[in-house]
Amino acid sequence: MEPVKKGDILVCSECSVELEVTKKCDCENCEIVCCGKAMEVKEKSSDNCCCC
Ligand SMILES: [Zn+2]
Repeated sequence: MEPVKKGDILVCSECSVELEVTKKCDCENCEIVCCGKAMEVKEKSSDNCCCC
């Protein structure tokens, strides 16, 4: 999984919980796990945001 960025929304395919990333990840292989499975990126944050 590619590193998450600030503003990305992650969703768990098992329990449907959603998380918003508030700080980017610098890991090469970022894997955020819920219910024993890696979470999926639901909405990617925009790279050309004017406010951050
Ligand atoms: Zn879950």
